[in-house]
Amino acid sequence: MKHLAVEQITKTFQDFTALKDISFSIEKGEFICLLGPSGCGKTTLLRILAGLERPNKGSVLMNGRDMTHLPPAERNFGIVFQSYALFPNLTAAQNVAYGLNPKQFSKRERKEKALNNLTLVNLENMADRYPAQLSGGQQQRVALARALAMNPEFLLLDEPLSALDAQVRIQLRNEIKRLQKQVGITTVMVTHDQEEALSMADRMIVMNNAKVEQAGTPQDIYDRPSSPFVADFIGTINFVGDQLIPNGAKEDIAVRPEHVTVHPLPADSTLPTRVESLEYRGSSYRVVLKQTTRDHVLYADIDTDTFKKQPITVGEVVYAELQEDKVIFFHGR
Ligand code: ADP
Ligand code: MG
Repeated sequence: MKHLAVEQITKTFQDFTALKDISFSIEKGEFICLLGPSGCGKTTLLRILAGLERPNKGSVLMNGRDMTHLPPAERNFGIVFQSYALFPNLTAAQNVAYGLNPKQFSKRERKEKALNNLTLVNLENMADRYPAQLSGGQQQRVALARALAMNPEFLLLDEPLSALDAQVRIQLRNEIKRLQKQVGITTVMVTHDQEEALSMADRMIVMNNAKVEQAGTPQDIYDRPSSPFVADFIGTINFVGDQLIPNGAKEDIAVRPEHVTVHPLPADSTLPTRVESLEYRGSSYRVVLKQTTRDHVLYADIDTDTFKKQPITVGEVVYAELQEDKVIFFHGR
């Protein structure tokens, strides 16, 4: 049985369709990322899972049970938003203990749970600090500890890292991932950051314009994007032409920049290009090439060691080779 399933959800706001016929399911313990550009409906979908929003059509099943119309309090999830949303007048420990019912837990138990959950997020030394005395990353860890303190069955995260600076964000990525596996909690995280989704998700669900474009593991989606939109949204893609296939339809041919190699001399099936620009990225160079036979840009990523052995310069003519076995085809257009 699926731990969580969404079946044909549609949601409109007045005459605007925010979600259109969304279906997917999640296994117990999975980490799912909902990924897509701003405005594609991610938050609305998460709010429907949480019970904060009602769909016009479709259902939400938890453990096979229809929960579509259950209020949030009866759904057993923890939630963390982009803004830390901690109570400023409560300490970290008090924030974490806040949701624990005094009728269910004694004062000592609440304190103990708060400390245990702060330890889980490596903040046991900060229990008595107020939010204003914590960094953004620490506040977000408190929010995470608070969400986990109630022992929820599901964890819902809405862009929890977006407000943090780059280094903290990457550190927290790893920490959330570790924590999620340690606790074994089924998690749905919303993000518009493709790197974040690729690095954290067991499976990702790519959305665009209120619809699911593709669902799969990060590797699947990167290597075998099902549409030009997905290929372009997750990483960079070169569209290099099209070809007719036996049934008469056209097929677009595309290739990732890391699968374009550059040679000083022409060879079989290389394309003559001129180097437009070079961007140094540390471990690699992003080279922008312009085909000399037509007005078409081609991106190539060359790792720095290779580049050093055979440097190229802007304006130079070089010959691009597409790694044949890495070419991606898009059918049906
Ligand atoms: P995302 O989280 O992917 O950026 P949202 O789910 O927040 O997108 O919003 C999807 C679309 O629905 C947006 O165009 C947004 O303006 C619209 N929308 C969201 N909530 C409401 C609302 N309560 N009333 C009207 N429109 C809304
Ligand atoms: Mg959002």
